[in-house]
Amino acid sequence: MYDSIVKNGNLYLGNGKIKMDVDIAVKDGKIAKVGSGLDEKQVGASYDAQRKLVVPGFMDTHMHIDKAFTMQNDATVSLIEACANSDRLTDSYYGWSDAQIYEEILAHAGKVVEMCIVHGTTLLKTNVLFNREWGTLVLKAMNELKVKYAEYITILSCVSFPDEFREELLRAASRGEVDVIGGYPHLCPDYRAVTDDCFALAERFQLPVDLHCDESDVTNLDCFRYIIECTKKYGMQGKVTCGHVTGSNATDISEEMLAEILKEAAEVKMNVTSLTSCNMYLMNMTRRGPARVRQMVEAGLNVSVASDNIRDTFRPFGNCNLLEEALLTARVHRFGTTRWLREVMDMITYHPAKNALAENYGLEEGSYADFSIIDAPTPEEAVLSRASSQYVFRRGRLVAQDGELIREYLH
Ligand SMILES: [Zn+2]
Repeated sequence: MYDSIVKNGNLYLGNGKIKMDVDIAVKDGKIAKVGSGLDEKQVGASYDAQRKLVVPGFMDTHMHIDKAFTMQNDATVSLIEACANSDRLTDSYYGWSDAQIYEEILAHAGKVVEMCIVHGTTLLKTNVLFNREWGTLVLKAMNELKVKYAEYITILSCVSFPDEFREELLRAASRGEVDVIGGYPHLCPDYRAVTDDCFALAERFQLPVDLHCDESDVTNLDCFRYIIECTKKYGMQGKVTCGHVTGSNATDISEEMLAEILKEAAEVKMNVTSLTSCNMYLMNMTRRGPARVRQMVEAGLNVSVASDNIRDTFRPFGNCNLLEEALLTARVHRFGTTRWLREVMDMITYHPAKNALAENYGLEEGSYADFSIIDAPTPEEAVLSRASSQYVFRRGRLVAQDGELIREYLH
């Protein structure tokens, strides 16, 4: 009757709730039944979770996979320096043929995708980089990876529309190759104009928005506030995400003012992604730090944690392991209680699923059978011990085991 069964799992249901020692039966890529003592006589495969944690697929909803593993020997101490170093990356491709560049991007990005999968990630959202040498080849590479790994992971391309490549990218969006409208308003002289343009594109193509926001050494949240205003104006409540928002940690913002802004953000169902590790690395020691995650959660925002950069000039660290990012976030924000450690687990599962508008997500009957068995009994223990993903399932199929990708489903 069922295709497979996972026995004796401790299912993490989000919001702090856990169901201990139950079975999951899978049929046609979805969870058909959750309960005890499910009959396994006619089952194709059976796995014993041994009272370890079962979590729905991790979702890394802010990455830059195309430039991963391009770390140079430039010492980076600030966001502005990292941007300059990233521009120099372009120069290192000077004189390469398109085919060579394409293969190089595929190699970097493909390595990240595989590392994500073996760590239990079943969706990633990547900000696609367009530069002088790469042109729009990079979007083509993302399309190829989407197909190659379709049985393992969902890849969302978050795309900005720089003037140089705008017409070409508009055509790509019409063909359905753009999943999310991205942008970097905080790095532009006129953040309002850039934000307006992003929302107009979102309306035109009926896509969600995910913007880098208030990451530079600003002492205000003006860009964040403007994005809140646009979200209201365009009726995009719940479909807009702001990444970084480290301005929330600026010394010039009073607690009262922060509370007022976060209240406005919660009213438009704003999603925020904290890139804790990257922000800690790039922060100016005198002012900026990571986003005020605790206050944001308490204000009712949907907050996620993601990897951001993987071993490039913006961050020389990263293993595509969201439990590692969750643990760092817990340490930085002193999330030392069971309640907050479970909240951090939500920030890499149920919360990013919302900003990615993922359907049928979770461990309920009818959800997609995308989940991992983690080597720890509870969410808090999984975060604290940065436990490994022993079995990773996607649409009910085992796609990775003990850190190894099962390669037979590659296209
Ligand atoms: Zn980023």
